Amino acid sequence: MSTEVKEKVWEVTLNSDCQCYDCPKCGVGFVGAEYGQKCDECAVELVNSDSCAGCWEDSENNFYEALESWKKEVGVDWDYVRISGVGVGWMRSSGYTEVPLETCLKSLTINGDFRIEAKWEEKTFSARRYSHDEPTGSAVFTFTLIEEEEE
Ligand SMILES: [Zn+2]
Ligand SMILES: [Zn+2]
Repeated sequence: MSTEVKEKVWEVTLNSDCQCYDCPKCGVGFVGAEYGQKCDECAVELVNSDSCAGCWEDSENNFYEALESWKKEVGVDWDYVRISGVGVGWMRSSGYTEVPLETCLKSLTINGDFRIEAKWEEKTFSARRYSHDEPTGSAVFTFTLIEEEEE
C-alpha cells in the first residue's frame, strides 16, 4: 500500500493479501512494508504478521480519499460514478456499471488475489487491476461522475 500525492496526480495501490509485517526480534509491526524490508531498529528482515492490523481498511480509506480529491478536481458534486471496464476477466470483456461513489470500490474487487492500482490525473480517474482472472494483462477501469437519474 502506498499513497503518493504529486501535483494533481494521486496514486493508490490496493492489495487483496495482507500487507502487515512484524519484526521477529523486537515485535514491532509494520503496515504496508515491502517484502524483504528490514526493521529500522534491529536490521533483521520482517516477516508476515500473524495478525492483520487492518491494512485493507487503510487501503480502502486511501482509495476513497483519492476519489474525494478527484471529485473536487472535477468540480462536479455528483454521488454516482460510471465505471467503464475493458479487458475484464479471462474473457477480457468490457462493459460498464453505475454505482454510488461511496461504495464503488466493491465493483473493482473480486474473490481471490488481486492488486489494484488507482490513480487520478487532472480530470481522469482510472484503475488497473492485476489478478489471476486477467493473466494476460490487466483490467482497466475508467471513472466518470454521473448525475443520479430520477426514477
Ligand atoms: Zn525490530
Ligand atoms: Zn494486514
